[in-house]
Amino acid sequence: AKAAEIAAWQGPGRTSDGHEVLILANVADGVSAREGAKAPVQGVGLFRTELAFLDRATEPTIDEQVSLYREVIDAFPGQKVVIRTLDAGSDKPLKFVTHPDEANPAMGVRGNRIAQTFPDVRNHQLDALAEAAQGENRATPWVMAPMIATVDEAREFAGEIRRRGLIPGVMVEVPSAAIMADAILAEVDFVSIGTNDLTQYTMAADRMSPELATLTDPWQPAVLALIERVGQAGQRQGKQVGVCGEAAADPLLACVLVGLGVTSLSSAPAASAAVGLRLSGVTLDQCRAAGAAAVAASDPAAAREAARAALEG
Ligand code: PEP
Ligand code: MG
Repeated sequence: AKAAEIAAWQGPGRTSDGHEVLILANVADGVSAREGAKAPVQGVGLFRTELAFLDRATEPTIDEQVSLYREVIDAFPGQKVVIRTLDAGSDKPLKFVTHPDEANPAMGVRGNRIAQTFPDVRNHQLDALAEAAQGENRATPWVMAPMIATVDEAREFAGEIRRRGLIPGVMVEVPSAAIMADAILAEVDFVSIGTNDLTQYTMAADRMSPELATLTDPWQPAVLALIERVGQAGQRQGKQVGVCGEAAADPLLACVLVGLGVTSLSSAPAASAAVGLRLSGVTLDQCRAAGAAAVAASDPAAAREAARAALEG
């Protein structure tokens, strides 16, 4: 599409036959949230809270956390805001959440796993989120945990979130969570697929390694098959299945994701208009055909070609 056409796209996200798809922003703090709110998005699909604390030597106080979370919530009044609890460790180390050296930090104590090693840090954050949500005009935030691998982890997290009056969800970014999507969805109100890590862990290929770019391509049919499994579970249970990894920024892949049952797409706000415009030119049936064709392909290049052909047909 031409740059002018993309710039003119206003939203909201929907296919040409009116199937609604929420187009959301990934943000990191108040500044990026206010900037993101200028894009044609309908809320926040991923607030990476750990990014605001990367330079902190000590745990931020509850009051500091409340004001940070409020800044993001208030940048999108009345809209959906999905806040992720600290995804500490591996590529996002926090100085106040440390561990003895791990041989494989990507598979170590990271994300929701810090609930075991640093329960106070986790509880303080959940208390701060509950407090940040207070206030007449604030919509209840959706709160999700990163790096969930089991049904038990999802159940424990959902209990803590519901107890505080918030809306619980988990990320699906470990293959076991995608395989167990039905049982996990039964515990939570929504899931969001993190395609960056889901691809890394499905393909056993470091997301930071340029040499492995073919393996860490979210068009890998194995990754798409897991997404399809999660999308189908979401449809069976009538629950929202988002995607918040970089895959949601690729307009062609966005159509495939919608065809696989994904209900919201969250990415860097700069990508939202191109994604919305592409979706507005295809029907849900075309998206479904593209999804099925891509999953059936044998490699990423064939998946792209098959999806493109299906969207033209
Ligand atoms: C992901 O893994 O796709 C994701 C959205 O989380 P992050 O990139 O912060 O690990
Ligand atoms: Mg991740």
